[in-house]
Amino acid sequence: MENLVSEARVTKDSHDSPGRIKDRFPSALSNRSVWIFDLDNTLYPAENELFSQIDMRMGDFISNLLGVDLKQAKVIQKDYFAKYGTTLAGLMDHHGVDPDHFMDFVHDIDVTAIKPDAELAEGLRRLPGQKYVFTNGSGKHARRILSRLNIEQELAGVFDLSHSGYIPKPQPEAYLAFVDHFGIQAEDSVMIDDMARNLVPASAMGMATVWLQTGNKWGELGHVSSSIDMVIKSLGSWLGNPRGGSNYD
Ligand SMILES: [Mg+2]
Repeated sequence: MENLVSEARVTKDSHDSPGRIKDRFPSALSNRSVWIFDLDNTLYPAENELFSQIDMRMGDFISNLLGVDLKQAKVIQKDYFAKYGTTLAGLMDHHGVDPDHFMDFVHDIDVTAIKPDAELAEGLRRLPGQKYVFTNGSGKHARRILSRLNIEQELAGVFDLSHSGYIPKPQPEAYLAFVDHFGIQAEDSVMIDDMARNLVPASAMGMATVWLQTGNKWGELGHVSSSIDMVIKSLGSWLGNPRGGSNYD
């Protein structure tokens, strides 16, 4: 409880906080039975820097594809990411890139930094309801990570980018495809993601939202305070005590 309360206070007082976050926990999250987790930098900490490996592989892919140097490739990559939600979406639209080929290439990374996470596994196990992964990455990548974390058994399903026809978060169509795929109601659900902009359509549909704040600049892109019900810094410690903020009621 102490941990959660102090996290919430840090967020409110922090000068670099991107906006005031409503403290509606736990009321906003009560009576919710579906838990939707992002994968990268959410189910494992951003400090593992796994995503920087993926990021570099994307640069290599674009450099090879377009015959540009890595600096130019990075500019193109970030431009597509900002405009389309994923680099892949821009590459498909502008260059007809095969998504499976791209996914296999960029996810060919060293995942040994990811270790079994007993705290997270226990937190998920104790969390009542259905638990899913909703990722802009590939299913193969997700299963590899879940296996490394040793939390596969706690999750009812993985929704990867191919399930939405390669339409990524934060495009609303991806969320509609998600709820349709699993036959769930947005009003029953809580979405947890390190990318603030991914919470905007979720909130608009009626999901409760939890922003896992990593301190990374891209996590704050498209931040909308009114779309965020709660801010956390560590998924494992929060799940260890999800009702710890009850004195904010
Ligand atoms: Mg993420």
